Amino acid sequence: AAVSRIRNFSIIAHIDHGKSTLADRLLQSTGTVSDREMKEQFLDSMDLERERGITIKLQAARMNYVSEDGETYVLNLIDTPGHVDFSYEVSRSLAACEGALLVVDASQGVEAQTLANVYLALEHDLEIIPVLNKIDLPGAEPERVKREIEDIIGLDCSNAILASAKEGLGIPEILESIVHLVPSPEDTIEKPLRALIFDSYYDPYRGVIVYFRVMDGQLNKGDRVKLMASGKEYDIDELGVLSPTQVVVDSLHAGEVGYLSASIKAVEDARVGDTITLAKGSAPSPLPGYTEIKPMVFCGLFPSDSEQFEDLREALDKLRLNDAALQYEPETSSAMGFGFRCGFLGLLHMEIVQERLEREYNLDLITTAPSVIYRVTKLDGEVVLIDNPSNLPDPQNRERIEEPYVQVDMIVPEEFVGPLMELSQTRRGDFKDMKYLAQGRTTLTYELPLAEVVSDFFDQMKSRSRGYASMEYQLIGYRENPLVKLDILINGDPVDPLATIVHRDKAYYVGKALVERLKELIPRHQFKIPVQASIGSRVVASEHIPALRKDVLAKCYGGDISRKKKLLQKQAKGKKRLKAIGTVDVPQEAFMAVLKLQ
Ligand code: GDP
Ligand code: MG
Repeated sequence: AAVSRIRNFSIIAHIDHGKSTLADRLLQSTGTVSDREMKEQFLDSMDLERERGITIKLQAARMNYVSEDGETYVLNLIDTPGHVDFSYEVSRSLAACEGALLVVDASQGVEAQTLANVYLALEHDLEIIPVLNKIDLPGAEPERVKREIEDIIGLDCSNAILASAKEGLGIPEILESIVHLVPSPEDTIEKPLRALIFDSYYDPYRGVIVYFRVMDGQLNKGDRVKLMASGKEYDIDELGVLSPTQVVVDSLHAGEVGYLSASIKAVEDARVGDTITLAKGSAPSPLPGYTEIKPMVFCGLFPSDSEQFEDLREALDKLRLNDAALQYEPETSSAMGFGFRCGFLGLLHMEIVQERLEREYNLDLITTAPSVIYRVTKLDGEVVLIDNPSNLPDPQNRERIEEPYVQVDMIVPEEFVGPLMELSQTRRGDFKDMKYLAQGRTTLTYELPLAEVVSDFFDQMKSRSRGYASMEYQLIGYRENPLVKLDILINGDPVDPLATIVHRDKAYYVGKALVERLKELIPRHQFKIPVQASIGSRVVASEHIPALRKDVLAKCYGGDISRKKKLLQKQAKGKKRLKAIGTVDVPQEAFMAVLKLQ
């Protein structure tokens, strides 16, 4: 297509404001996907995404649209993930666009993710088209929400489109606005090839499929390309566009969006943000903004059955082909045996990986509580990064510990400001700012240790605001704090995966709450089990789990064999997700107990 007839755009929205539904309507009304083919929410194709109603991986769709001026335009919709864990991918897909639809639920208003995404879009100089969605709802207040967008974001809303993605209202207006307001790409076909990778995934038959936007130059079937970050070269096997299923083409030029396959073995060789150029006649410099993303949250993954260790390794190897952000290395725990220490972008990323390992690879896993990366300066001046609390150097061998901090921005209805300030305070937050945002709503800004946020901060924020508050966070750096390692001993033995790093002032309280919780979670055994929390050799809290009073089988009077069998089966079932630590069976929930302390 002629560059002047191309429009590249994405949709930005807070979760649940209707991004996927709107994308479906656009695909349908341009005839890209027929009504019959239309599965609900075509773009969210992964099962997990569908179940959780979130977009994890971005994808793209090319639509042909005959505008009211009679011309045919190519509209490339580049979808973005809707979660803060994947904000780097959001920034790369926005970098591939000239415009964005800003979708705001007219019955709700501006939320934290709306703001974060709008700021990203503004950084990339995108033309932003406000769309007030869900105007079919009786509670919709488009005029109020328009004022809100104008006041908060400073975006003119006099021409904002009123829409209902569900009922199909406002769709023609949206398509016309894309054509008339979003600038066409620059015509840089004569320059050396530079294409921006905004997504990639691993296909077992064809290798990695790379999604890209050609920024400069032209790319042809059979070209030999070079990936500028990795320096590796490949011959293109297949070149195509997404309409939204893959359709092969011979060439793509500046402004166009497409995919290629080139027998690339793993997504880490074709990372999001990397630049594709030609092996012969390479561009002198890559596109700006490439960053190698680093995991922020770590946890241990152990098979509940140690026989499954090799299966777990294979499954991780396979997932890794498709997930450049996933890190793992073997870990040996005195309590848990062999497993892996894994690094993730954030909590959602961690949950997704765990869930896929269990569902798609049939593994039964014990997961330890998430940890962040601590920066420890030893007495001799050496600085070590610690992602596993049990590896923290001894107090007599360390000068200081620093921990990562994030800035958390919350948007809160007035009546919940108190409870959320209290929550932030108990999580060691430093109050930064509180601003009136719009009628009845306030922004609240705190600086918090990331460790406090990756525990159940988000769930707490939701429950203390009856679901009405929203939040975003970003890393702001490391700070020194008086942190100590809290060890947990079960039956006298330290259980390394239960060790946590806590603030000195909270250690006693956390230790006490944790042993009380463990006492509830660990089932009774034939013998009495002491549970203790200690800092170094000092025990700060202790409880014990009383012995079982009767043997369960004693109830069966010896005679009834089938009943005895049933009882044993029932016990065996209850054993699932237990990890034998010494002679004590510890259930999965115990390893997460530290996250759920009140
Ligand atoms: P996303 O998280 O932004 O992708 O939002 P979805 O498209 O998944 O929509 C979230 C929920 O809002 C779903 O239950 C949709 O059916 C519903 N929804 C989306 N658009 C509309 C609309 O225009 N009107 C109404 N009443 N509901 C809508
Ligand atoms: Mg969605």
